[in-house]
Amino acid sequence: MREEPADNDTGKEGDVTWDESGYVLYCPCMGRFGNQADHFLGSLAFAKMLNRTLVVPPWIVYRHHTPPYTNVHVPYSEFFQLEALSAYHRVVSLEMFMEQLAPEHWPRGQRNAYCFETAAQRSSDKKSCPMKDGNPFGPFWNYVGVEFDKSILFSGISFSTYHQPQWMKKFPPWEHPVLALPGAPAQFPVIEEHVGLQRYVVWSDSFAKEGEELITAQLPRPYIGIHLRIGIDWKNACKMLESGDAGPHFMASPQCVGYNRQTALPLTMTMCLPDLVEIRRAAKLWARKTSARSVYIATDSESHAGEIEKLFKGKVKVVSLQPDLAQTDLYVLGRADHFIGNCVSSFSAFVKRERDAQGRPSSFFGMDELGKVNPKEEL
Ligand code: GDP
Ligand code: MN
Repeated sequence: MREEPADNDTGKEGDVTWDESGYVLYCPCMGRFGNQADHFLGSLAFAKMLNRTLVVPPWIVYRHHTPPYTNVHVPYSEFFQLEALSAYHRVVSLEMFMEQLAPEHWPRGQRNAYCFETAAQRSSDKKSCPMKDGNPFGPFWNYVGVEFDKSILFSGISFSTYHQPQWMKKFPPWEHPVLALPGAPAQFPVIEEHVGLQRYVVWSDSFAKEGEELITAQLPRPYIGIHLRIGIDWKNACKMLESGDAGPHFMASPQCVGYNRQTALPLTMTMCLPDLVEIRRAAKLWARKTSARSVYIATDSESHAGEIEKLFKGKVKVVSLQPDLAQTDLYVLGRADHFIGNCVSSFSAFVKRERDAQGRPSSFFGMDELGKVNPKEEL
């Protein structure tokens, strides 16, 4: 779904002028799409906090099993509207920044890297930021042809609002116009106060159009969307819950157990890794509640489409496309009449945030016992 360049999405970026207030530039070097999206929201907030333009990085897609077997860097605007971000804060794409601004304002020889002292400790001279060490770091900066000339280290500050004055004082834009960082200036998972920034992440017209066509063609409404995060990497991750050491906060789980550790609900194995019994139970409950005519299953491995079809005795259409682009699944899940997600997954979290922003209902596996639902979620 991404062959066609979205002219309408990038066109407004045609003329970029240098921002004297400076820039924040980072590599989305941790995790796959869901993690990168969480980090993106925090980074957007960080750039606004420092009143610097955010240089929006491409998404890093890992292609270990399909050609070209190397990382693919997908410009933000392939999936989302860059200009929709402007309603919140000033942004420029990394590609445009490199093409139009860097040659004059961030030329070779003046490209500083900024990192925590602790990160630099790992380098051979203990003074260099590990900007290009290993994958995906090296390939990312090579994608835009950047070598770093010098490292500037910091410590004793974090990316939270609390340290805003220190950042301003330490790195005034006239001396430090481009803060280039080895990773996102944000936490994972996204902090509660930044969850709402999801509303500025708007699908590009062309991607949305294709998504709508797919839904119209395949999914009679009402339809429920289900995210199955049950693959082998996930099974291994959820094993950490068995020992009980993980606590209620494990990866994206604050989204359903609550952000406050003191009052957080317990995180169960079924919430992390729903078995077929739970998948059937939840599918049946929500299909009945919504009078669903179809079910869309997005999955990282198996779809269990056969089992789910049997559950409805052929009366409900069950669709699982396993598309080339994970974003196709995200789009279709986002538009469903009801969404059942995996609380621990940041991939599910992306869908949940988008749906919350648009007032669409969601639930999580392992959380709506015996058909009892939160009154807010009642349809
Ligand atoms: P998390 O690991 O679940 O927190 O989310 P991430 O997005 O960081 O990593 C999971 C990755 O697995 C995704 O980015 C996708 O590449 C893949 N994946 C997981 N679930 C699905 C799914 O339902 N559909 C598709 N197409 N890919 C998925
Ligand atoms: Mn992940």
